[in-house]
Amino acid sequence: AAADPAAGAAVKATDRAHVFHSWSAQGLIDPLPIAGAEGAYFWDYDGNRYLDFSSQLVNTNIGHQHPKVVAAIQEQAAKLCTIAPGFAVDVRSEAARMVAERTPGDLDKIFFTNGGAEAVENAVRMARLHTGRAKVLSAYRSYHGATAAAINLTGDPRRWPSDTASAGVVHFWGPFLYRSAFHAESEQQECERALAHLEQTIAFEGPQSIAAIILETVPGTAGIMVPPAGYLAGVREICDRHGIVFILDEVMAGFGRTGKWFAAEHFGVTPDLLTFAKGVNSGYVPLGGVAISAEIAATFDQRPYPGGLTYSGHPLACASAVATMNAMTEERIVENAAEIGEKVIGPALHEIAGRHPSVGEVRGMGVFWALDLVRNKETREPLVPYNASGAANAPMAEFAAACKRGGLWPFVNMNRTHVVPACTITEAEAKEGLAALDEALTAADAHTV
Ligand code: PLP
Repeated sequence: AAADPAAGAAVKATDRAHVFHSWSAQGLIDPLPIAGAEGAYFWDYDGNRYLDFSSQLVNTNIGHQHPKVVAAIQEQAAKLCTIAPGFAVDVRSEAARMVAERTPGDLDKIFFTNGGAEAVENAVRMARLHTGRAKVLSAYRSYHGATAAAINLTGDPRRWPSDTASAGVVHFWGPFLYRSAFHAESEQQECERALAHLEQTIAFEGPQSIAAIILETVPGTAGIMVPPAGYLAGVREICDRHGIVFILDEVMAGFGRTGKWFAAEHFGVTPDLLTFAKGVNSGYVPLGGVAISAEIAATFDQRPYPGGLTYSGHPLACASAVATMNAMTEERIVENAAEIGEKVIGPALHEIAGRHPSVGEVRGMGVFWALDLVRNKETREPLVPYNASGAANAPMAEFAAACKRGGLWPFVNMNRTHVVPACTITEAEAKEGLAALDEALTAADAHTV
């Protein structure tokens, strides 16, 4: 489309007058007005096009404006826009069946929500009612959403301002060899020590008081730490031994991101509850949910489940989910994510790391990669301090600005950049983005010592 800076300026002026933005000091932000998007790209009103290496908030797994998903929403809108959750409708039934078909094990009942945080809220509610216990254990270096229980489960600084209602939440350390909390020197040691630490946390909290352990299968926003072999199976075993519900949060890792429908498949584990959102329909219409095991579902066979949402299983959202899952299957989009990760993105990132003193570690799988940026490779000191803002965060801000000048929209969190493009990304697009990333990293290198 032709550039139209005046239209962009008008959009921005009204935004600044009336839109209250997430996570932001309203007087300090400068939102970019967006004119359109397609596939792995979006563009502004000034004629700048960006290759989206962040998939927005790591949700546009199928890319922007997939024609089959757009058509499904249009068709559903013409047929039935909305209906209360209590009725049985074709698209909701089919979306639930298709999600259940893709989740591991016996997670065959689906409770639909409008997004990830609500999925986590309801999973925790189910676990508490199923066990009759109150506490929930979650990991430091995690993100589970911004509603009351979900933000308290979160293990990053976004929790701090909302911590007052954290009763019943206990945090522990998950495995992360590069910045080991356990002084481990191998993945196996990290795994053993992280499991021993979890056992000890449970012993001191009292196993009979713990309803659930919630983990991101592969922690996402916190740094894409692929768990070592045996860790998740170990947590599964600990949960079984103590009658604790095991919740895997696949809001970010699910629906192709790791090169499988669900990341749990890589590790051969089946949780009791699995939360999803984002990639289920790439966020074309808000949708999330909880996949529920037969045993937990049975708890609510004769006893009402005390939770619900006006828009649970919304027809437009469900129609877009059905179309998304069909398109992902027909077009081998999950397979593409796996192949591009293994053959193109992974090898290129390791090569880039060799060239740049600021890249401390490369980790990930599929289209789910993190570069841990450091001031010094030997000491592993992060390029910016934990939770830095303002001047202290300048090295990351300069890196992000360099990416954008190069036509790349990066995902940046603390001292990391994540390479999380659409699962549909082609080899040529990936190479274009990786070249821009390579170039932009010189801005980070300037801050190494
Ligand atoms: N859980 C995980 C693992 C997430 O990454 C997110 C969002 O980034 C959420 C939950 C919250 O999802 P939502 O923002 O849709 O509420």
